[in-house]
Amino acid sequence: MSKIEMKTPLVEMDGDEMTRILWQMIKDDLILPFVDLKTEYYDLGLKKRNETDDQVTIDASEATKKYGVAVKCATITPNAARVEEYGLKEMWKSPNGTIRAILDGTVFRAPIIVKGIDPCVRNWKKPITIARHAYGDVYKASEMKIPEAGKVELVYTKADGSEERMLVHEFDGAGVVQGQHNLSASIESFARSCFNFALDQKQDLWFATKDTISKQYDHTFKDIFQEIFDAEYKERFDEAGITYFYTLIDDAVARVMKSEGGFIWACKNYDGDVMSDMLSSAFGSLAMMTSVLVSPQGYYEYEAAHGTVQRHYYKHLNGEETSTNSVATIFAWTGALRKRGELDGLPELAAFADKLEAACIATIEEGEMTGDLALITSLPNPTRLSSGEFIKAIRRRLEERL
Ligand code: NAP
Ligand code: MG
Repeated sequence: MSKIEMKTPLVEMDGDEMTRILWQMIKDDLILPFVDLKTEYYDLGLKKRNETDDQVTIDASEATKKYGVAVKCATITPNAARVEEYGLKEMWKSPNGTIRAILDGTVFRAPIIVKGIDPCVRNWKKPITIARHAYGDVYKASEMKIPEAGKVELVYTKADGSEERMLVHEFDGAGVVQGQHNLSASIESFARSCFNFALDQKQDLWFATKDTISKQYDHTFKDIFQEIFDAEYKERFDEAGITYFYTLIDDAVARVMKSEGGFIWACKNYDGDVMSDMLSSAFGSLAMMTSVLVSPQGYYEYEAAHGTVQRHYYKHLNGEETSTNSVATIFAWTGALRKRGELDGLPELAAFADKLEAACIATIEEGEMTGDLALITSLPNPTRLSSGEFIKAIRRRLEERL
């Protein structure tokens, strides 16, 4: 069988720990035998980031702007323990944060629904897609520890040199302070990508912030969404029979729990980070969720929403068998290959991605799955496979389909 052709390389961003192990298995067993894979490889593993003073993350982001489509493995965001573990020169920033700051845009995350893995919220009948703003707020904040009493102010120095000041707090002892920002242009493109995605999916769009408390910051998000909706999207939403709905974040959370699903939930950066983990685990597993960053210029970065599965990696290093779910990482690859196929006019490549996804779903629905799913499935007598066996089980079903 001849291999499926590619034209433009994918930007391949390798990562850390257990997901790095899965990354290689996925390439070896599920992609390289069938696709004449072209990638431009960037090693975002922590060791390489440290060696390059994190330049490799910036280079990978710039390459994504050049080629348009990237696929990323989960990576460690260092904390104090990681600085020690890896002997780091610095506590490098989150690679996802760096990539998102360079590409801007919105991260869309949707659960992968399979028969036999039922959401633990009984009334959820349809997937809920999270649209997470990928720029700014706490991910681009400046923070300071305040060691002792003193005054902290916000100072805005205008182009003409004049200043506006505002008191943050008059400290009478130690504390902490944080300065956050966002950009109107980024919020506008976030709003447009959510409205466009809702029209594309023909689903209602919900948006929520804490505008009652954050009367300038969050209120700006609310106002920008409403202005763009009224000016550019209202008629098209009416025609499509879908609605745009804004509410307070507390109210949104309560309504989401009572809903049937089947809508898009636009979230500010932090809300989207936290709520997508809540949704994916409530829909079944952290590893059963797709995630794609769509930039306003039309660059795409596909990834898994979960982390590097550290606990499993240490078992793997100890020579113990692991049962780590590779579905989200496989779907990152299929998302990227399909998009490359669409952009380059390669229907065979897009069809390959569809078949690989179908093979993953069939494997689980036929009762062969990893431990995270075996624990919660409603299918009788599931077979719990190791990380490697699960990928081999997918390969058998993929070969039947090719
Ligand atoms: P995690 O890697 O998502 O894992 C948390 C737990 O969720 C695991 O211990 C495991 O539960 C379960 N889990 C997650 N993915 C799984 C999978 N594919 N198959 C089976 N079970 C899975 O989060 P973490 O342990 O908090 O973070 C580890 C590292 O990942 C950190 O260094 C963090 O910085 C990084 N991180 C990276 C990204 C990213 O690059 N996108 C996102 C989040 C976190 P059990 O242990 O109970 O089996
Ligand atoms: Mg998260």
